[in-house]
Amino acid sequence: MGKPTGFLEYERQASQKRAIEERKQDYNEVDVTYDKQQTKEQAARCMDCGIPFCHSGCPLGNIIPEFNDAVYDENWKLAYELLSSTNNFPEFTGRICPAPCEASCVLGINKPPVAIEYIEKSIIEKAFEEGWVVPQPPANRTGKKVAVVGSGPAGMAAADQLNKAGHTVTLFERADQIGGLVRYGIPDFKLNKDIIDRRAEVMKAEGIVIKTGVTVGVDVKASQLERDFDAVVLTGGSTVPRDLNIPGRELKGVHFAMEFLSQQNKRVADSKGKPVDQSVDHQGVAYQNGELFATDKNVVVIGGGDTGSDCVGTSNRHKAKSINQIEIMPMPPKERAESTPWPQWPMQLRTSTSHEEGCERAWSINTKEFVGDENGNLKALKLVEIEWVKDNGRMAMKEIPGTEQEVPCELALIAAGFLHPQHEGLLNDLGIEYDQRGNINAPKYQTSNEKIFAAGDMRRGQSLVVWAISEGREAARAVDEYLMGESFLEAKAVSMISPAYLNI
Ligand SMILES: Cc1cc2nc3c(=O)[nH]c(=O)nc-3n(C[C@H](O)[C@H](O)[C@H](O)COP(=O)(O)OP(=O)(O)OC[C@H]3O[C@@H](n4cnc5c(N)ncnc54)[C@H](O)[C@@H]3O)c2cc1C
Ligand code: SF4
Repeated sequence: MGKPTGFLEYERQASQKRAIEERKQDYNEVDVTYDKQQTKEQAARCMDCGIPFCHSGCPLGNIIPEFNDAVYDENWKLAYELLSSTNNFPEFTGRICPAPCEASCVLGINKPPVAIEYIEKSIIEKAFEEGWVVPQPPANRTGKKVAVVGSGPAGMAAADQLNKAGHTVTLFERADQIGGLVRYGIPDFKLNKDIIDRRAEVMKAEGIVIKTGVTVGVDVKASQLERDFDAVVLTGGSTVPRDLNIPGRELKGVHFAMEFLSQQNKRVADSKGKPVDQSVDHQGVAYQNGELFATDKNVVVIGGGDTGSDCVGTSNRHKAKSINQIEIMPMPPKERAESTPWPQWPMQLRTSTSHEEGCERAWSINTKEFVGDENGNLKALKLVEIEWVKDNGRMAMKEIPGTEQEVPCELALIAAGFLHPQHEGLLNDLGIEYDQRGNINAPKYQTSNEKIFAAGDMRRGQSLVVWAISEGREAARAVDEYLMGESFLEAKAVSMISPAYLNI
């Protein structure tokens, strides 16, 4: 234990944020870089618990008390080695993880938990600064070839692990750059895309072949994939969005959140180094018609989750006239709900940095209709307040009479989650079996076709980056065992907490 009295002496202090008015003017990260002294003090708050619940709260089994101690001792190199032994991309999770480890931290029972995510980000940024993150190609190659299809965090982690095991890995991506939703979903103000590029350079130098702009199933047929590789890992994500099929869905101005977010990330990438002011001339980059801007519009974001919050932050940067975010479920309690006591993932109200930048939020609201003008443009949303009542033991939605209202809206963004991966094309061509939710059925990462494996959102459904990395690592281990009969890749630490709690 670094400092026995640390948790008594220091208050929790996580990442500092840039001032709201300043950060709304650009797409740079909201969080400022770490401060060495602050990180040391935060690490000193760790009690090095006999049973470190943080460790099992983390889907990666990160060895948290040990790296906290190492940081307190200013042995940053050791801290980096401990962290990178279980997490391939702490620079992602240190920025955008909701930190289930913190929700299960023992200190959190009666004080604010240890700022684990902030410490994690500090360690990996220090490691890059010091030049400790260098390519480490495997000493020997096995001669086995593995294709990884989809370069989100699951695919990147699987490729990284399989390459470490000595297999020759090709990582296929249909987009122009790797990263999956971390690249084209999560906005730059949460995670700057140089962070992905920096890691991609290391992976390439370690021998991973990255092929972007290749849609597997179209440019490379399923049969060719099976023929050319000894094993295949499918990590294509959960890409079919949940729609809102109500009257007026066809109107101009009604879009899925991902259309809006990915366009903005692309604009930021295209205007690298220059300020992005989309209301002016798009920095000389020629854009097709159909570009989505919230500028001067009344925006309604339908869906209260992370994706919706990212739409709020982006709309504020576009200088929208008004921003409303509505959610069909009731407002969660401000504090941890009694139904989710420590160390479970708490059901409680979450306010993101995007919410802090300004928007109206409302819960228990149902959208009944998109209302258009005579030219087919969206002009309003017909909304109604609802209550949730028990009906035959199940919760059912009931409209509250007299609460129907029309809210002006020229841009409606549907952020209602994702159903499952796309079945048509590659997956059906490979004869993949699906589970009841339409995700790939691969209980132990291996599908019914023994040389085909799956991981990430494609297998577990829409989830989190930390789970995607964990799944990529586990799938890589399963592939390695399949190819070599045994695997020396690190196994995941056994969780003390029921997986149901961690499935957030
Ligand atoms: C807007 C948004 C914000 C989010 N914010 C957070 C957050 O703050 N924190 C968090 O932890 N999680 C967040 N998530 C969830 C997180 O991004 C995902 O859970 C995670 O990225 C899933 O990783 P993955 O590798 O399984 O799939 P993805 O990241 O979806 O990557 C799949 C990749 O496969 C490629 N692909 C698919 N099919 C093919 C094919 N046939 N050939 C070639 N390539 C193919 C796709 O182009 C894509 O690049 C967010 C999600 C969204 C949508
Ligand atoms: S549970 Fe919290 S206090 Fe205990 S070891 Fe983990 S981080 Fe430290």
